[in-house]
Amino acid sequence: MRLLLRLGSSGCVSRYYRRCDRSLSSTQQQHLTNSHESSSSSSGGGGCVDEAETVIIGGGIAGISIAYHLARQGQKGVVLLEKSELTAGSTWHAAGLTTTFQGVVNLKKLHYYSLNMYSQIAQETGQEINLHLPGSIRIATTPTRVDEMRYQMARHGHHEAPQCLITPDQVKKLVPIANVDNILMGLYTPYDGHVDPYSLTQAIAKGARSYGAQITQGVGVSGLHLREDGRWVVSTEKGDIIANRVVNAAGFWAKEVAKLAGSDLPLVPNHHQYLVTSTVPEVKALQKEIPVLRHLEGSFYLRMERDGLLIGPYESMKSMKQSEDWMRSGVPPGFGKELFEGDLERLEPHLEVAMELMPCFASASIQSVVNGPITYTPDVLPLLGPHTLPNMWIMAGFGYGIAHGGGAGKYLADWILTGQPPYELTECDPLRFGSWTSDDYVLAKARESYGMNNGIAFPHEERFKGRPTKRTSGAHQLLVDRGACMHFHSGWEQPAWFTDDGTQPQYSPSFTRTNWHGAVGREVERVMKTAGIIDLTPFAKLLVEGTQAASFLDYVTANSVPRVGRTVITHVLSPDARIYAELTVTRTKENSFLVITGSGVELHDLRWLQDYARKGEWKVSITNVTEDLGCVSVAGPNSKHILATLSPTFADKFPFFSSKEVTVAGIKATALRLSYTGELGWEIYHDRKDSAHLYEALYSNGQQFGLGDFGTHALNVLRQEKGFKMWGAEMNMDTTLVDAGLLNFANMKKGDFVGRAALVELLKHRAGRQLVQVKINSEHVDPHGDETVWLGGKVVGNTTSGCFSYHLGQPLAFAYLPPLLSVPGTQVQVEMLGELCEATVLPAPPVLTHTARAKVTK
Ligand SMILES: Cc1cc2nc3c(=O)[nH]c(=O)nc-3n(C[C@H](O)[C@H](O)[C@H](O)COP(=O)(O)OP(=O)(O)OC[C@H]3O[C@@H](n4cnc5c(N)ncnc54)[C@H](O)[C@@H]3O)c2cc1C
Repeated sequence: MRLLLRLGSSGCVSRYYRRCDRSLSSTQQQHLTNSHESSSSSSGGGGCVDEAETVIIGGGIAGISIAYHLARQGQKGVVLLEKSELTAGSTWHAAGLTTTFQGVVNLKKLHYYSLNMYSQIAQETGQEINLHLPGSIRIATTPTRVDEMRYQMARHGHHEAPQCLITPDQVKKLVPIANVDNILMGLYTPYDGHVDPYSLTQAIAKGARSYGAQITQGVGVSGLHLREDGRWVVSTEKGDIIANRVVNAAGFWAKEVAKLAGSDLPLVPNHHQYLVTSTVPEVKALQKEIPVLRHLEGSFYLRMERDGLLIGPYESMKSMKQSEDWMRSGVPPGFGKELFEGDLERLEPHLEVAMELMPCFASASIQSVVNGPITYTPDVLPLLGPHTLPNMWIMAGFGYGIAHGGGAGKYLADWILTGQPPYELTECDPLRFGSWTSDDYVLAKARESYGMNNGIAFPHEERFKGRPTKRTSGAHQLLVDRGACMHFHSGWEQPAWFTDDGTQPQYSPSFTRTNWHGAVGREVERVMKTAGIIDLTPFAKLLVEGTQAASFLDYVTANSVPRVGRTVITHVLSPDARIYAELTVTRTKENSFLVITGSGVELHDLRWLQDYARKGEWKVSITNVTEDLGCVSVAGPNSKHILATLSPTFADKFPFFSSKEVTVAGIKATALRLSYTGELGWEIYHDRKDSAHLYEALYSNGQQFGLGDFGTHALNVLRQEKGFKMWGAEMNMDTTLVDAGLLNFANMKKGDFVGRAALVELLKHRAGRQLVQVKINSEHVDPHGDETVWLGGKVVGNTTSGCFSYHLGQPLAFAYLPPLLSVPGTQVQVEMLGELCEATVLPAPPVLTHTARAKVTK
């Protein structure tokens, strides 16, 4: 092997792998020895207790962090059970990298918290953690990557961690031994770095014990049984513990632990490798540690390890390896701190690039290769939050557990202690996956996520592995045949836009305006002028029924409960009045409600409703009918004519926000007179098996009225042009009804409801920010939400959603701004792709809704 020879004197590479203690750096070897020695003495009391407030399963970075945060914040009865020794899963052999950089909006908070915590923990506990903070540089070597960095910078200004773009010369200055010839730009995050994961975990454990947590090593959990009172019987070889709650933090065993409780988790171990060189003279000669480098096209990280280098590549989808057998049949008994055999050949393409970037690496010899299991979810984000099983919490699936660990523990502890998430992090909600998430899907997606670890993340990004799932709408093939470009979310395929002539669409993502710009414009125009039809089957649908259904909904939501045959938009508030969910509630019968919510929050919303129903002992049944019902919507001025020719019910009076049982083209359905387009329109909920027939009947009958297909991109434009806010963007757990301008959806005169008292308090004070819409001057780039808003060189706010407004002929965005700057006509600047674009606060949404237009013309 050419590369292996060039890599130096290691010769027989395989002799470095297999047993962990032969493939480790000297510090890690020492930790292993220490851990064996200290295992019995570090157990908090040795045996088990009979009862606990919280039992945490697993003593890796995740379990230890939640134990620390719960105990530190005053919870008594925190018990952590570790079957082997602390760190004996993935944690002990991690490369220890931790960074404040993050692409996902609120995960930035997690990363930032972790590093802040790690920088304090040694001082707090007296346990050294070998924290190095040389900063880190993400390296761009292609123009598209430069665009991606500018895109990320535009989303960063309103967050806390420092980060900036640097030139190749500046990279050279920070990393004198780097060859910067091919580098176009660097994204520099000062004070990033790495830590010794073993020492870090021990330090946090020491802290946890000092606050009262009991950490027991050498005791594995072998059974989990839910009692009728909602408590768990946690079985171990030393006896049972009755726990008020359980946290599953069992790393690559978490799937098996979930099975003990009769459930499952979408996890698979991927194999991840890094190599460590022996001393490299050029590295040794450096006066100070160089920043950690992440070469994105080469797909590897590189840092100094003493006087040598540590390089960790993410192999391609094709060449990476997974432990499929572990996923299907469990981790082999006895596997603990072992490693997989190293495979340098798989790393070869990445190491070639590493030699180009760091010429001194070419003559280095490899001292060790670490190849270990890293637990992946389909989208590589962790599972963090409560399960649908009562009092079962998940803290697993960490692809980057060291970077996430501190923040994740704090986030989950806050949620456990207060009963509400401290901030919005639905991206990590364990319930973003559901019964549609098959093992095959998990394997395919985890492979894709690993292989694309350093792929370019475009706006409106689509990834194609594992699709379609069983969650296709009945009209799926029909829509594909008609030229739909499908958007994937929550297991569903939904048309994003259509080619004009039914030809196969091209998915051409870009940071600037893309190939679907024209098609979306035509679809928007069609809905405004004649009529459009859209498949909305992915909406989540719940039935809330029972003699107390109305009083239950009245208590858990802020708006009035509708009378029979009417619909309301209402919000589920947390006790402290933040917006947990937005629901469309239709009363179909006296004791029966059809509740519609977003596809991404199906189980997230269901869990909340079920929790409140259970805890309050409400006499209601809540049934998830998402997969049973399809939804097709027709909207636009001609929608009434189209529907009336198929069902006389639509020819009658059919008021806004009302519902009727109808028969359309022979199909029985529930029709709701509303449309997220803001135009005259209906949503027709029907048996999912009838979707193709219904869609086709509506489509062919609609031709005489100019009906055409439209997709979610056009829907997103239409709703923003009408000023309709969206849960997950304009409103979420980081906002209230007050600052989102949604108070008109709360009925303060009805009796008590969850969040009311806090809302009353909020209303006594002036809101610190206000949601407005701004039009933006930009020729080629459109906003997508989360852009930073500037004025006079200062960050003053952020956007939440954005699009190109075909009505205005320019970009449009929702933005949160201070009240002072929310006055119509105020000029601000929105950062987009490296430019500060002039923007003007609008006095009102650019387009009146159908109902508002009707009032004006009366
Ligand atoms: C080679 C490699 C390099 C990596 N480098 C980095 C990096 O640089 N930065 C980064 O952020 N991440 C890195 N990672 C990922 C990181 O190691 C993991 O995300 C993290 O360690 C996961 O921690 P955890 O606590 O979730 O799981 P684990 O560390 O696996 O801990 C789970 C624990 O649960 C225990 N357990 C399991 N079942 C039971 C049971 N039934 N009863 C009691 N106890 C049980 C196990 O013994 C184990 O100790 C790397 C991973 C690999 C493989």
